[in-house]
Amino acid sequence: MGSPVIPETMRAAVLYGPEDIRIEDRPVPKPGVGEVLVKVAACGICGTDIKIITKGMPKMPPYGDFIFGHEWAGTVVALGETVDEFKVGDRVAIEAHKGCGRCENCLDGKYTACFNYGRLEKGHRTSGMTVNGGFAEYAVHHVNSVYKIPDNIGFNEATFVTTAGCALYALDVAGGYIVGDTVVIIGPGPIGLAAVQGAKALGAEKVILTGTREERLAIGRYYGADHTINVKEEDPVERIMELTGGKGADIVLECAGTQQSLNQGLQGAKKGGVMVLVAFYKEPVTIDLSHAVLNQIKILSVRGEGNQNCRRALAMQSQGKIKTDKIITHSFPLEELNEAIQTFVERRDGAMKVVINP
Ligand SMILES: [Zn+2]
Ligand SMILES: [Zn+2]
Repeated sequence: MGSPVIPETMRAAVLYGPEDIRIEDRPVPKPGVGEVLVKVAACGICGTDIKIITKGMPKMPPYGDFIFGHEWAGTVVALGETVDEFKVGDRVAIEAHKGCGRCENCLDGKYTACFNYGRLEKGHRTSGMTVNGGFAEYAVHHVNSVYKIPDNIGFNEATFVTTAGCALYALDVAGGYIVGDTVVIIGPGPIGLAAVQGAKALGAEKVILTGTREERLAIGRYYGADHTINVKEEDPVERIMELTGGKGADIVLECAGTQQSLNQGLQGAKKGGVMVLVAFYKEPVTIDLSHAVLNQIKILSVRGEGNQNCRRALAMQSQGKIKTDKIITHSFPLEELNEAIQTFVERRDGAMKVVINP
């Protein structure tokens, strides 16, 4: 195939200050050593973007220069020096985090907890957070955080690898071998709904999803949750105990991020069980840690989507084991990014995952 013509400039969403996003012409980035230049086909909006837009983020590029967007997919159009892992024309999805590759955590696959986070000179990059990302017509990323998209997955679906990767990472640190286990998932957002599917695909016997909104719990059942609990209507801990013969769950994934959900999760875990914290908490929370100690409950956490779980997520998606048909609800062109963000924030028309097609 002939080399695609790459223009000098592109349309891009630039963050100028809190809630000040402008769609402008910017130079097309050049791929550095070990990087590919991608013509972006789709970039998902995520809760982290809302944090970036409203409050900013440590280590992000300065206002007026910063192109955000960290859940993107597209077609490789140029290769940086030394790249032979990909070729022009490959369809790819990225994971946001590219660890430094030289600290002990990176060597261990825990690159989302890289010791050199935000240090460009050490080789660390988080696309759309510490360097420019995907709300633009073109973006660059390092090959070690780029994955080929299987033919049966579209670009919009492929933006979901980071979200699905977070859910799989949580199951990974919970032990991974969850065949026959009971898994409680708190919070039917995109990560929770990916976790439901991941847990079922990995052989969990009983998946119990809890939440506050019936429409989303219904989606959870559609994706294979065996039981759903609306915490506004029933006491989730009592119900979990009923469903587990009074024992509690083997594994709890806390994907909601409130004081209440955290405590319900802990109370719903069995003696000797595991709770994994996946959500971020808006403020410090109080938790009955004596309950954890008395019952020898392990409390773990994950940051994002480490240990190659994005690659695994793509494999699951390709096999039809993680689906996005009821999760990706809206798409907009790049010029309408502000409108798309409002749709996402206000959950207009049942919006859950909103994707931009530059
Ligand atoms: Zn995200
Ligand atoms: Zn590192």
